[in-house]
Amino acid sequence: MGLIVQKFGGSSVRDRDRIFNVARIVRNTRNAGNDVVVVVSAQGDTTDDLIAKAAEISCNPSHREMDMLLAAGEEISISLLAMALQELGVSSVSLTGWQAGFNTDRAYSKARIKRLNTERVESELARNRVVVVAGFQGLNRSDDITTLGRGGSDTSAVALAAALHADRCQIFTDVEGVYTADPRKIPKATKLKEITFDEMLELASLGAQVLNNRSVELAKKYNVELEVISSINPVPGTVVKEETKVEGMLIKGVAKDTDIAVLTIRDVPDVPGMSFKIFSLLAQKNINVDIILQTTGRDGKKDMSFTVPLGDAESAVAALQSATSRFGGGEIIVNKGFAKVSIVGAGMQSHSGVASTMFEALFNQNINIHMISTSEIKISVVIDEQDADKAVAAIHDAFIN
Ligand code: ASP
Ligand code: MG
Repeated sequence: MGLIVQKFGGSSVRDRDRIFNVARIVRNTRNAGNDVVVVVSAQGDTTDDLIAKAAEISCNPSHREMDMLLAAGEEISISLLAMALQELGVSSVSLTGWQAGFNTDRAYSKARIKRLNTERVESELARNRVVVVAGFQGLNRSDDITTLGRGGSDTSAVALAAALHADRCQIFTDVEGVYTADPRKIPKATKLKEITFDEMLELASLGAQVLNNRSVELAKKYNVELEVISSINPVPGTVVKEETKVEGMLIKGVAKDTDIAVLTIRDVPDVPGMSFKIFSLLAQKNINVDIILQTTGRDGKKDMSFTVPLGDAESAVAALQSATSRFGGGEIIVNKGFAKVSIVGAGMQSHSGVASTMFEALFNQNINIHMISTSEIKISVVIDEQDADKAVAAIHDAFIN
C-alpha cells in the first residue's frame, strides 16, 4: 500500500482496447489499496501526425504554436482514460500538465521543469480519485503551454514521483523491459532484472530507446527507482536504480549506433591550441563530438579524427573548412560508413580483461577497429557499418551467453 505513479506510453493507449487495458491495470493497483497517479502520452502516432499537420501549413512554424498543437495529443489521452476508469467504476479526474502544477522555463519544444506544485494532485488524491495527468507538457512564466521534448512523458512521471515521494514509479511500455541488446536483432538477448542509472544513461545515449534520457537523469538526481514493464504482458520488468547487486553481470548491454560520421582533418599544425580552436568551433555550432583520436606529430603536423552525429556532419565540415584555411591544416575527410559499437557495465570498473575480451571477439570475426574510446563503465569501438550487426552478436556472445 502506498502511492504509485504509473506512466503509459503512446502504444499502451493507442486505441479503445488498449485504453481499457490500462484502466484495468490502474484499477487493480487501486484495488490493492494504493493511491495512483497516472501519466499518459499521446495515443499511438498522434504526436507525429500533429507534426505532419503543422508541416502542411508551414515549413517553419513557431515553437510556441507547435507546443500548443502537440500538447493536444496528451489531452486526448487523459480525458479518454479518465472516462474509461469511470466506466469501470473507478473515481478519477484528468488534469493537464499545467493543472497538475508543471512550471517550466521558456524553451518551447524542449522546456525544462522548474517547479512542480503538487497541491491540486494531492487534493484530488485526498478525495480518493485516481489522478490522470498529461505527460510532456507544462506552463511557462508567460502562462504559455510548453512541451518537454520528444519522449518527455517519462520525465513528467519521474518528476511527479519525486515531488510526491511516491513509493514506486512504473513505466509501462510495449517491451518487457531493458535488454542486453536489441532483441529484434539478437535473439539471445536477455531481459535485465536490474540496471543502474549510470548504465541506463549510457545505453539510452547509445540508442536503446526504452527510457527518455532526461527522465533517467532526473530519476538519478532524486533517487527515484524506476520499473520498466510491459502493459500487455504482466511479467516482471527491469528495475533501474542507483546500485545493483555486485554478483550481477559484468556487462549489461551491447549497443550499436550507426548515426555517426567520422571527420578527419589532415596535416593539422602540431602546436598548442589547435584542439581548442577546432573543438570550440564545433561547440559554438552545438555539435556534440564523441570519440577523438589524433596521431602523434611528425614533421610538425598531425591528423585529427573525431565522430559527430550523422546529421551534423555537413555543418561541421562547413564550420571547419573556413577555419582550417585560416589556421593551417589540410584536407577534411568525411566518412559516413562507420558505426559505433559499445559495451556498458559498471562491473568493468573492478574487472580486468574486459577490453581484451571485446577485441578478441572482433578479431575472431576479422573485424577491423578504427577508433577506440573508454570510460569507467563503457568501451566503444568505431568499425565499418557493414560489420556492426556481426560485431554486436559476437561481443554479446563473448560476454553474455
Ligand atoms: N507524445 C510525446 C512524444 O511522442 C511525448 C511522449 O510520448 O512521451 O514525443
Ligand atoms: Mg509518443
